[in-house]
Amino acid sequence: MPEADRKETSAANKPKSAPQKAMEKLGLLRDIDLALHLPMRYEDETRITPIAEARSHEGEAVQCEGEVLECRIETRGRRVLLVKISDESGAELLLRFIHFYPSHQKTMAVGARIRVRGELRHGFFGREMVHPTFKAVVEGAALATALTPVYPASNGLPQAYLRRAIASGLSRADLGELLPAGVVPPTLPALRDALNFLHHPPPQARLSTLEDHSHPAWQRLKFEELLAQQISQMQAQRERALLKAPALMAKRGGLHEQLLAVLPFGLTGAQQRVSEEIAQELALPQPMHRLLQGDVGSGKTVVAALAAAVAIDAGWQCALMAPTEILAEQHFKKLVGWLEPLGLKVAWLTGSVKGKARQKMLDAAADGSAQLVIGTHAVIEDKVKFARLGLAIIDEQHRFGVAQRLALRKKLAAMDLEPHLLMMSATPIPRTLAMTYFADLAVSTIDELPPGRTPIVTKVFADSKRFNVIEKIRDEVVNKAAQVYWVCPLIEESETLDLNNATETHAELSAALDGYVVGLLHGRMTPADKAAVMAEFTAGRISVLVATTVIEVGVDVPNASLMVIEHAERFGLSQLHQLRGRVGRGAVASVCVLLYTGPLSDTGKSRLKAMAETNDGFEIARRDLDIRGPGEFMGARQSGAELLRFADLQEDSVLLQAARRLAPQLLDKHPQAARRQVERWLGAKAEFLKA
Ligand code: ADP
Ligand code: MG
Repeated sequence: MPEADRKETSAANKPKSAPQKAMEKLGLLRDIDLALHLPMRYEDETRITPIAEARSHEGEAVQCEGEVLECRIETRGRRVLLVKISDESGAELLLRFIHFYPSHQKTMAVGARIRVRGELRHGFFGREMVHPTFKAVVEGAALATALTPVYPASNGLPQAYLRRAIASGLSRADLGELLPAGVVPPTLPALRDALNFLHHPPPQARLSTLEDHSHPAWQRLKFEELLAQQISQMQAQRERALLKAPALMAKRGGLHEQLLAVLPFGLTGAQQRVSEEIAQELALPQPMHRLLQGDVGSGKTVVAALAAAVAIDAGWQCALMAPTEILAEQHFKKLVGWLEPLGLKVAWLTGSVKGKARQKMLDAAADGSAQLVIGTHAVIEDKVKFARLGLAIIDEQHRFGVAQRLALRKKLAAMDLEPHLLMMSATPIPRTLAMTYFADLAVSTIDELPPGRTPIVTKVFADSKRFNVIEKIRDEVVNKAAQVYWVCPLIEESETLDLNNATETHAELSAALDGYVVGLLHGRMTPADKAAVMAEFTAGRISVLVATTVIEVGVDVPNASLMVIEHAERFGLSQLHQLRGRVGRGAVASVCVLLYTGPLSDTGKSRLKAMAETNDGFEIARRDLDIRGPGEFMGARQSGAELLRFADLQEDSVLLQAARRLAPQLLDKHPQAARRQVERWLGAKAEFLKA
C-alpha cells in the first residue's frame, strides 16, 4: 500500500485525543512521518550511579536509585515536598519539589524504591536534586539498553506518548531500500539502520556526532532528503519543458518602445537589463516562470508595464494581480496613465466592483477587448475568463499562496497553453532558498535604485520619547510642508483594539497639529473610503496619515518623507523594511522613526538594530533569515512547511552534488523508485515545487 494512503485506514472516524491532535499539528500522520521525527537530544538512562559517586558535569543529569527514608511537606514559607533517599553506597540524596501532587507522595512513600534522574547539586543539606524525574521500581528492574530520545514536541503532547507512537511508527514504516544497489555512497548505512540508530542509539554512541549531525546515520538521512528534493525539482523542470506558451515577440518600434518614449523618466541600467531578460524569455514558446525581485522603490512597476506592453503588442492579454485594493488601484491609475494614451483598454476587477460594472469587466476579459486586467484576488475567481491570456503578473508575490499562482496559470488551459508568469517581490529570496522552494525558478534582480534618492535615516526611540517625536512632526509639517505616515501596530487578537489604538493616536495628533489635516486609514474601512483617504494624501491635502498596516505594501506617495512606526518591536524585519520603503521615494531626505515599548526580546533588539544599520533590502533579507530561519522566512502559506528538514544546501554541498548526479539516473532508469522516493520524503509538499 502506498505510504500516503495508510493513514486513512488507521485514523478512520475515531474521535481524536489531545495528543493525537497535537501530533497531527506537528505533521505526524503517516508511519513514515513518525519514523522521520528525530530526537533533538538524548538522555542516558542506561546507567545507575551510586549516590556517593554522583556528580553533575555542566548540568548533565545523573540517574540514581534508592529507598525512600523520609517524605514530608515543609510548610515554612513556600510549601515544598522534601524526599530523602539512600542507596547501598550509604549516601543520602534530598529531592525537592516545589510543584507537586498527592501522587508524588504516593509514589515516593517511605520504604518505596524509586529511580530518579536530574541535575545533582550540592546544597546546604548535602546532595540534592530539584524536580528530578522519578518512577517507582522493583529492585534490579532492567535498565534502558539504548539512550532515551527526547523529541521535539508541543503542549499537550507528553514525551512518553510521543516515544511510544514513534517507536511503533518506526517499526511499521516501510523503510525498504528504494535505491538500486551501488548508488548510495558506501560510507552510509542503510536507511532502516540509520533510523533505528538515531532513535535508539547504543549507550556508547558518540553524542557529539549525533548532535552536530555529522554521524553517518544523519548523513544518510540528509542524502535521502536531498535526493528526493533533486528528483522532484528535476521532474518539475521536465514537466514544464513540455508545457507550451504563446511566444510573445517584442516588435521593433512596438508598444513597449512607445511606452518608453512617454515615460517621465529614463530606465535605470538595472531596469533595462531585467526588462531585456524578461522580453527574451517571453519570446519563447515555453511558459516563463520568473521572479522579479528588487528592493522597495526600485521601480518594478514600470518593468511590469513594459512586459505587459510586449504581450499586448503580440496580440495577447495581460493580467496584473496585487494583494490589496489600494495597491491594485494604484497600479491601475499608473498603468492607465501610461497605457491608455497609447490606445489600450485596461479593465479593473476587485471584490468591490459589483453588479453591472463587474459584468462589463468580465465580458471585456472574456471577449478579449480588455487587453490588460488589473485587480486583486478577484482576478483568479472561476467566473473570470480570458480570451487570450498571454502574461500573468503577480505583484508582492509572497502575499499569495501556491494555489493562487496555480489558478492564474490555469486561466489559459482551454487552449492547451499556459500564460507566462512574472512574479514580483521586494523581499529578495536568497539563492539557496529559491532553489529549495521553487523548481527552476528564473530570477531577475533590480539591484539599483532610481537616481536622486536620498537614503532614509532610521532612528530608534523608546516610546517615552513619543512627545519629542510629535514635536518633530509638527515642526516638519508646519515649516517644511512635509507629509507623514504614522503606522499603528496590528494587534492580532483584536481588530477592535487596533482600531481604538489608531483612533486615539489620530485624536492625539489632530490636537497637536491644529490647522492641519490628519487622516485615518484602517482595515475596517470600505475599499472606497480607503481609496478616498489615499487620494487625499496623494494630493497633499492630508499632512499626517495615521494607518494600521493597510499601507504595508506598495503604496507610492513620493512626497511623504517621514514615517513613524509605533510598537516597532511587534513587526517582522521584512515588514518593517517594506513599511519604511513608503518614504524615501522622492528627492527629499527621509526619516523613519521606530518607536518601541520595552523590554525588548533579543530578536526584537536585533531587528531594530538591523533596521537602523542598513537600508539594503538584500542585507535585511539575509538578517531576517538568520533571525527567523527559512521556514518562517518563506511564510507558512507559501512553503507549507520547510521542505528540507535535515539537509542544508550550503553545509551539505558534497551530499547535494551526489544527489544531483543520481537524480537524473533514477528518473530515467528507475522511475518507480524515483516516484516513491519523492513520496516518502516530501509527501504532499512535492506539490509546492511545481508552483
Ligand atoms: P517598487 O519596486 O517598490 O514597486 P515602484 O515601481 O512603485 O517601486 O517605483 C517607485 C517610484 O519610483 C515610483 O514613483 C516610480 O514611478 C519611480 N521610478 C521608477 N523607475 C524610475 C526611474 N528609472 N527613474 C525615476 N523614477 C523611477
Ligand atoms: Mg511595487
